[in-house]
Amino acid sequence: MTKSVFDNSYAKLPAKFYSECNPTSVASPKLISFNQALADYLGLDELLLEKQADVFAGNTLLYGAKPIAMAYAGHQFGHFSHQLGDGRATLLGEVIGNDKVRYYIQLKGSGRTPFSRGGDGRSALGPVIREYLLSEAMHQLGIATTRALAAVTTGEEVARDQLVEGGILTRVAKGFVRVGTFEYFSARHDFTSIKQLADYEIKHHYPKAMQKANPYIALFSAIVDRQAALIASWMNIGFIHGVMNTDNMSIVGETIDYGPCAFMDAFHYQQVFSSIDGQARYAYHNQPHIGQWNLTRLAEALLPLFSDNTGDEEKDTKAAVTIAENILNHYADCYKSYWLAGMRRKLGLLDEHPQDQALAQELLNLMHENQADFTLVFFYLSQEDKQNALKALFAQPENLTGWLDKWQQRCALEHCSVDERKAVMRRTNPVYIPRNHQVEAAIRAAEDHQDFSVFHALHQVLQTPYTLQADKKQYQLPPKPEEVVQQTFCGT
Ligand code: AMP
Ligand code: MG
Repeated sequence: MTKSVFDNSYAKLPAKFYSECNPTSVASPKLISFNQALADYLGLDELLLEKQADVFAGNTLLYGAKPIAMAYAGHQFGHFSHQLGDGRATLLGEVIGNDKVRYYIQLKGSGRTPFSRGGDGRSALGPVIREYLLSEAMHQLGIATTRALAAVTTGEEVARDQLVEGGILTRVAKGFVRVGTFEYFSARHDFTSIKQLADYEIKHHYPKAMQKANPYIALFSAIVDRQAALIASWMNIGFIHGVMNTDNMSIVGETIDYGPCAFMDAFHYQQVFSSIDGQARYAYHNQPHIGQWNLTRLAEALLPLFSDNTGDEEKDTKAAVTIAENILNHYADCYKSYWLAGMRRKLGLLDEHPQDQALAQELLNLMHENQADFTLVFFYLSQEDKQNALKALFAQPENLTGWLDKWQQRCALEHCSVDERKAVMRRTNPVYIPRNHQVEAAIRAAEDHQDFSVFHALHQVLQTPYTLQADKKQYQLPPKPEEVVQQTFCGT
């Protein structure tokens, strides 16, 4: 192979931003899944025709790859770790997609790096399957996310609670810089690097900020806006990230680092699935607030760039803090307007009326009190012939009647046709989500029986989550009591 597909930019930053580090070869890689459509989009199709498993295991490097592990720090469950970094991931390089956007291609589970600390640098197969399924489902649901290009088994075992099969995920992102990357340099009082990193993000991901009087303030504002939009989209679909540490918050505003994440079945504001989130810090309902907390950590790192440098340090700092606070205060309104816009679409409301927020909130409160299935409530709402099925989702169906009356009255105020409104609801309320028990079944079949058919079948259904598919009823249904998954594990 003589022509490089890569157009690397992060590896051109100063050496302290990363560590050059090749993936460690594995014994006998086997391809589980390859995302042909994504490969085509990235212009990688021809290059990957051969030796796919070797390439996606890191045994063979594509020409032009420059493998690096990125440095970062992060607040984990509120506590600062000044040294994290890619402990089990290798950035192979960057490509420019058909849309002219820069995409970063990374192997996860590819062996030890200088940032591995005590870890083995590997991934178990289970988390690879979970991330593949969830990230691709999120993409098809229309939520900003890293994507899955390929998954392989390694032919080697990794030690977790017991010995389990190893796996490697190839993931693709619009950027891998995290809030924790800025914190890494901030903790070292390395303001030159903070500026270099901010300049990098502006150049590659937020070019409009360059036109503003202070591009760094504009950068921060834009990051805040994208996070508000992202977290609102999670809340609108019933997604719980599970580990919203600052090292897992992407600067480009994509969902990243799928660990013990999950979609909710029965709706509960305080729902937590993650086995490591004992304090419910990252519960469903806390996610918007944690978003702001994380962005506050980012503001602290960027603060020196907000100042006018008049020479009066005290005055400059005060002014910079005021700027950061104003933007952070705006986050709440920004989040709420994205959330409300999403709820309106879910309820088929294309006009805006002052009572909409209360109407949406009242439905969620009823769902919470009645443990109604999040996805089915909204799907049935969008189907005229499913009104009895809708009521049956509520422990006390009569509680819904009053709300339905209010919703109908509100719908009557709409200017658009019923058909238009129903079409919006069908595009917004999925039929299929990666339900926990289905994901778990796919993992169990793969780990326990080397059977990937359950994974492939689920993945196939999730390719078109808004379209009702023949003979796929079982993927719509909530778990039976014996199938309920109470906890999810990050498996690191
Ligand atoms: P995560 O929980 O996946 O977001 O990871 C948090 C930090 O731990 C990151 O710095 C990871 O690179 C690191 N880490 C997670 N699992 C491993 C592992 N098996 N080996 C080495 N480092 C790891
Ligand atoms: Mg992480």
